[in-house]
Amino acid sequence: MLSDRNLWTKIGPGMTKITNGSCLCGGVTYEIRGDLRPVVACHCNQCRKTSGHHVAATRCKTRDLTVTGDTLVWYKSSDIAERGFCGTCGSNLFWRMFGSETTSIFAGALDNPEGLKMVGQIFTRDKGDYYDLPDVPDMADTSNLKT
Ligand SMILES: [Zn+2]
Ligand SMILES: [Zn+2]
Repeated sequence: MLSDRNLWTKIGPGMTKITNGSCLCGGVTYEIRGDLRPVVACHCNQCRKTSGHHVAATRCKTRDLTVTGDTLVWYKSSDIAERGFCGTCGSNLFWRMFGSETTSIFAGALDNPEGLKMVGQIFTRDKGDYYDLPDVPDMADTSNLKT
């Protein structure tokens, strides 16, 4: 069974992967120093509303993420999670569960998504009827990923 835990990639000791991203206007930039999980698509209603389609997100340890700029806004989208976006241009950037040690990073905002691949998807039953699902496995075990 494909699960979030076994999607994490491991990088050799002594090597720190650095990944950068930003919102559309540049008001928010960020750097991730550490491992990134492969990309997972989410078709839930909240991701559809905030993104205008479905979300495709990688994930990092929150302590590896450094955000620069002062236009980042957090919106509490449910009792258990919040979403980070740029208050100027509206770019959707982050999702994180309260109390979690990881932050989901919306892959479209990465400057240089080197080597990342979409490997799974969740909440496929909530998808819009105007598109077909990507050809990646449905990660049924998503109870801990609920938005
Ligand atoms: Zn912006
Ligand atoms: Zn979602």
